Amino acid sequence: MKIEMKTPLVEIDGDEMTRIIWAMTKERLLEPFIDLNLEYYDLSLSSRDETDDGVTLAAAKAIKKHGVGVKCATITPDEASVKEKGLKKAWPSPNGTIRAYLDGTIFRTPILVRNVPPMMRPWKKPITIARHAYGDIFTNVEKVVSEPGKVTLVYTPTAGGQPETLFVHEFNEPGVVMAVHNLESSIRSFARVCIAFSLEQGTNLWLGVKDTISKTYHGRFREIFRQEVERRKEAFEAAGIAYESLLIDDAVARSVRDEGGFLWACMNYEGDLMSDMVASGFGSLGLMTSVLVSPDGKYEFEAAHGTVTRHYLRHLKGEKTSTNPTATLFAWTGGLKKRGELDDNPALVQFAVALEAAVIETIESGVATGDLAAVSDPPIERASTLDEIMDAIEQRLKEKIS
Ligand code: NAP
Ligand code: MG
Repeated sequence: MKIEMKTPLVEIDGDEMTRIIWAMTKERLLEPFIDLNLEYYDLSLSSRDETDDGVTLAAAKAIKKHGVGVKCATITPDEASVKEKGLKKAWPSPNGTIRAYLDGTIFRTPILVRNVPPMMRPWKKPITIARHAYGDIFTNVEKVVSEPGKVTLVYTPTAGGQPETLFVHEFNEPGVVMAVHNLESSIRSFARVCIAFSLEQGTNLWLGVKDTISKTYHGRFREIFRQEVERRKEAFEAAGIAYESLLIDDAVARSVRDEGGFLWACMNYEGDLMSDMVASGFGSLGLMTSVLVSPDGKYEFEAAHGTVTRHYLRHLKGEKTSTNPTATLFAWTGGLKKRGELDDNPALVQFAVALEAAVIETIESGVATGDLAAVSDPPIERASTLDEIMDAIEQRLKEKIS
């Protein structure tokens, strides 16, 4: 008897090597056990090109409607790929489109396995990074100043009234200048999503900003977080978790000597840096999961890595690759678990938990792909191919289910 699914999970297919892992996963690890109820969107580059990228927005709308999606990695084309693949244009990043539509925050969490020790000795539990994905230097205005002159910042109220002018710098020599902005609504929904995630996971919440220097701009982040945490004070107490408001440099210093197990809310740029630090610090991109959460509680699960193009090119030549399927499998288990929780379907949750255990035990038994073999302790003599590790996971899963 297969496990039933009461409501659809939005399935978003993608490109290259991860598309291959995707199909293998469904065929070998999901379909034999679950009566899959999926709403399928093909976000492969060719499908996005054919639909003038309409399929991407349709997928985002489907997540909004059904509440949970699972996404395969996709190519973000550049001008070179437009020429090479004969595309109509360089379509924007699907992740950017979906994130903007859902107003979501991305949480990245590493998967821990015993034989891949973190680079930092104190780390025992995963560190989740939440990156505020709006504004700051990512929507900046900047300019090289090559001749002497004065730079000011002018705010002109739409409703009329006196414009306000802030003096930036009087240039007597060449230089460079930049203006950035953020929105109160965006910072507030970021704070709320982080708080909800912390409460759900039962982990402490950190915010690190530099408001000793940027008292107004960074100070807004600290103040809005303080207000939002204050509103949920009782929930924090009930969950037995703490909110820590830190200076960013203190947060960085503490993060490497803490045992982990906290959620770190980062401004846009710091989140970009810290998510890469945490990913490599925990061993491999192949072990990094990612979930997009919207303020109204919609979820999209995926691997943090891309389509692993270098491996795909070897695959096309007929070579066996040693691509790590772990993060992609955990995208599926994350989506199935959340679907099961929302639908009050414990069988689906239990299946996802069993599949995660099968993956972790397989790696811990010494069957691991090249990315992990390189950093494993005890060392792994021979890296397994994608086919071999999928075989081993399938075998273990069958043993658990029967
Ligand atoms: P990538 O696909 O993450 O791969 C970069 C390198 O990291 C790989 O060549 C491989 O190193 C290693 N790696 C990543 N995932 C691995 C895995 N599962 N198993 C083993 N090794 C793994 O990044 P990229 O090559 O920069 O980008 C490729 C495409 O993915 C681009 O079109 C990019 O736009 C897209 N992308 C999509 C997403 C997304 O959809 N979320 C995210 C990032 C990038 P070795 O070659 O040394 O083995
Ligand atoms: Mg980065």
